[in-house]
Amino acid sequence: MGATAGGPDGAGTHHGDGQGAQLMESAALADLHAALRRAGYLVVGPTVRDGAIVLAELESAADLPYGWGVTLEPGGYRLRQRSDSAAFGHAAGPQSWKPFLHPPRSRLWSARRGGGGFEVEPADEDVPRYAFLGVRPCDLRAIFIQDRVLGTGSHTGSPYATRRSAAFIIAVSCTEPGETCFCSSMGTGPQAGPGYDLALTELTGPAGSGGHRFLVDVGSAAGAAIMAEVPHRPAADATVADARTAVTAAADRMGRTMPAEGLHELMAASQGAARWDDVASRCLTCGNCTMVCPTCFCTTVEDSSDLTGEHAERWQRWDSCFDLDFSYLHGGSVRVSGKSRYRQWLTHKLGTWHDQFGSSGCVGCGRCIVWCPVGIDITAEVAALRDEATGTQPGSGGGGGTDVRDAQEDGAEHTGPEGT
Ligand code: SF4
Ligand code: SF4
Repeated sequence: MGATAGGPDGAGTHHGDGQGAQLMESAALADLHAALRRAGYLVVGPTVRDGAIVLAELESAADLPYGWGVTLEPGGYRLRQRSDSAAFGHAAGPQSWKPFLHPPRSRLWSARRGGGGFEVEPADEDVPRYAFLGVRPCDLRAIFIQDRVLGTGSHTGSPYATRRSAAFIIAVSCTEPGETCFCSSMGTGPQAGPGYDLALTELTGPAGSGGHRFLVDVGSAAGAAIMAEVPHRPAADATVADARTAVTAAADRMGRTMPAEGLHELMAASQGAARWDDVASRCLTCGNCTMVCPTCFCTTVEDSSDLTGEHAERWQRWDSCFDLDFSYLHGGSVRVSGKSRYRQWLTHKLGTWHDQFGSSGCVGCGRCIVWCPVGIDITAEVAALRDEATGTQPGSGGGGGTDVRDAQEDGAEHTGPEGT
């Protein structure tokens, strides 16, 4: 796509060189999509489907959810019509990018009887080259967290690492956070952090103030190569300032907060907290929170064979620490009660994740709040644990570690039925 040089915000456009913030008209999203397709990418981004904004392959930029926003609340998600035509004027939807990089189900190998034994065939997986269009800052951080778990060190060359290394990422900084968002607290947004190929900030002002357009930050040579095919021009300082201000203002409009300081220590000190009984009385142990969480990575394997015994397969699928069998050891499950399973999830997510991977396992996307069928709110649970630990609430357990009652219950969990 040709382009000519022009002044800041001027009528002319030029090819990208990765120097400074650029300005792209909203119509150029079609050029961006086309450039990605020409480069061999399967473009995935947000689109309206089944009453939600989901992530799916985009046949064209017209598939983007122009004019749609969302209303979020604990246990609730609704589409709402916006008063403008923003393409990214919505907070995180039910999916993250996890299903694309770390599929819910994948075949590890298959085997066929023959030659006096079994011939094992590795998974013949066709790995697409994804271009992710519309990655929120929280989800960008989540991808990097999953990289540490699934895609680096001894895991290089894994299917995850292969998908990940081929992926092209177009982040979109948030200017309209949702009611359940708290990325600002977790230091993961609303400005897109490093690691993107391109980062967009959407501006939806009236025509007199520039109209619908995007500030574009180029983050890699691959990003610069794609932008070279997309009409754009250098952004004026005032436009850059407007875009940055809109993102900064979003940080002040987060629906929730969760002070991240001391969470590791709080989790370690809260093993015996009374709050676990409270949350367990509401939690259905359905595992929704782990399915929608962009960082939860646990899997299990399942083997199957056909009726003739000639063919067998091994599949990997997502698992959840809320599943009773997740903690099955010889003779039974270690975590029988809902209390112990919720405590395990939260303690790992906010506490021991630091020990394993050097960061929090929560990026503040708020999905676990929205998609919990009973509306359990991770920020409220942490606030209650904090209150209990500091003695703010009357009758709190003090958060001083495992008390006698908890030790008795935990002991029962290893050997007895739930609730004993
Ligand atoms: S724990 Fe909840 S808010 Fe945190 S990253 Fe997971 S789904 Fe998002
Ligand atoms: S916290 Fe909510 S989403 Fe998670 S297992 Fe419990 S009921 Fe399900």
